[in-house]
Amino acid sequence: MSMIQKNVQNIRQKIITIALRCGRDPNKITLLAVSKKKTIKDIKQAVDAGQLCFAENYIQEGVEKIKLLSNLSLIWHFIGSLQSNKSRFVAKYFDWCHTVNSVSLANRLNFQRSSMSNKLNVLIQINISNEVQKSGISLDELPFLAEAINVLPFLALRGVMAIPPLYKSYDAKLLAHRKIAEVFQQLTHMYPSVDTLSLGMSNDMDAAIIAGSTMVRVGTAIFGRRV
Ligand SMILES: *Cc1c(COP(=O)(O)O)cnc(C)c1O
Repeated sequence: MSMIQKNVQNIRQKIITIALRCGRDPNKITLLAVSKKKTIKDIKQAVDAGQLCFAENYIQEGVEKIKLLSNLSLIWHFIGSLQSNKSRFVAKYFDWCHTVNSVSLANRLNFQRSSMSNKLNVLIQINISNEVQKSGISLDELPFLAEAINVLPFLALRGVMAIPPLYKSYDAKLLAHRKIAEVFQQLTHMYPSVDTLSLGMSNDMDAAIIAGSTMVRVGTAIFGRRV
């Protein structure tokens, strides 16, 4: 068995262990394999371990991989920051976009998805600490953007995504994750289509699951370090 295959199995097991320990259903947590900067061969090894959902950050690289692997019926998530002049590639090739952060981007994606038979699943990227270097919206903008997306016929509003800042203490980390989860819970009460909280990466997966994440985005712990 390859290292990548073993890693996928270990992460799966870890998700189950953490979920059960905090009384959650492990089946409600999707593992996304973040394959940015990794090769087709690496991705195929993860597929050999039963992994079907992959995430990419860079449009050109992502589209290339999606085309090369189109015979495998994988599910592709776009998780990078999205410039409006690249949005058509997300609308055409990806199943999900985690980084919607404006009404104008949502409108573009909706229009560009209109020729496809299924909706594009979208998450609103939120930035709870208002860090300038991160591209999510602030919490007070969320209701307006959620409503704008909800009325678009070719987008499915599925929830929120966040990349919390790096905290030194576990408690601070968990607190930040819980704050995001609370916002997500409120959104589920307003929109029946909302069921996804994309939160947690290789180094904060446990805090994210304990807080209520339904989708973890794991790169390094599956594929090893990126160079
Ligand atoms: C790269 C990336 C990940 C994966 O991070 P790891 O630390 O390698 O698990 C998750 N989410 C986003 C948005 C990323 O850009």
